[in-house]
Amino acid sequence: MQWQELFNAEPKYRLGQAKSALFQDLIQNWQEARVLPLDLREELNKKCPIKISAEKIFSKDERTIKAVIFFDDGLLVETVLMRHKDKRNTICVSSQIGCSLNCSFCATGKIGFKRNLDAWEIVSQVLFFVRYLKTIGEKITNVVFMGMGEPFLNYQNVIGAIKILNDKEGFNLGARHFSISTVGIVEGIEKLAKEELQINLAISLHAPADKLRSELIPVNKKYTIDKILKAVDDYIKKTCRRVMFEYIMIDNINDSKEHAKALAKLMKKPLYFVNLISYNSMGSLATLGMKTPLSPFKSSSSSKIEKFKKILESEGVAVTRRYRFGEDITGACGQLATKNRRK
Ligand code: SAH
Repeated sequence: MQWQELFNAEPKYRLGQAKSALFQDLIQNWQEARVLPLDLREELNKKCPIKISAEKIFSKDERTIKAVIFFDDGLLVETVLMRHKDKRNTICVSSQIGCSLNCSFCATGKIGFKRNLDAWEIVSQVLFFVRYLKTIGEKITNVVFMGMGEPFLNYQNVIGAIKILNDKEGFNLGARHFSISTVGIVEGIEKLAKEELQINLAISLHAPADKLRSELIPVNKKYTIDKILKAVDDYIKKTCRRVMFEYIMIDNINDSKEHAKALAKLMKKPLYFVNLISYNSMGSLATLGMKTPLSPFKSSSSSKIEKFKKILESEGVAVTRRYRFGEDITGACGQLATKNRRK
């Protein structure tokens, strides 16, 4: 049950009071919401407790913090906070426990799909770090759906969570501060185009041609590059928003001059931009005790990434490089795959 449902029989202003207590005062127990009647607080605590059980793991420089959040059914999920030097604080949330897509380079796929997260479970990942940041006098500035899972295979709950966090009476984080990264689920892109929400869309492209992309991302056989780009173009027509194309750089797989040229051909469009990400090899999975073979891939060298970037730029494509966070705590992109049950 979602806590809001307990307010159906209450006067309208009560829900506003509850949202303000939960998302502004950041209460951790309904008893602290003194504006609400005692019996309602007790019922809320019984049916919808707001305590979030989690463990935090800090990177050496303490700029990246990974939280492992435990749910009532014994499953758990990982969420990462990245504290940028310019005071931005980005939370990377998960949309599913595990993932069904099994991309060959991604650690999450190796654990398979367990279940979708509900909207509150997504919100609580954010709330957990919002509560933590309050203790050090800071706030979150961005929420990205780049953790475990495919957000568009759990569309309703992802958009539901964004609406809760965007709500003016509650947390009030502006829509432009949210980003959804998708493997390219076309129906999701189409639905998002129809929402009146100014959120950011990112597509995990990773290859400039279907043959290679299907090897890396099996679901490309269904959602081919052509189909995805058509959906993106429609999305841009409707929303006039920029779209990011993520491209992880894997040594000798997708990082040649020819790949760069082919990519440039696809990406030379207004409002498209490419984000180059160095691949995080999954050696660290071994330290998590997973019986997964080590990744056969490794990252392209920094100089190769720079060369790749130059080719795109010379072809007139907008391109950026992503700064790496939290590798030492396996909190970096594609490393979220802790054994998904509590010991
Ligand atoms: N399913 C969504 C969101 C989750 S992953 C998607 O595919 O977009 C977020 C990003 O991290 C994706 O671009 C994904 O391809 C990338 N990623 C996965 N494994 C990675 C790895 N080992 N190194 C770098 N990026 C990785």
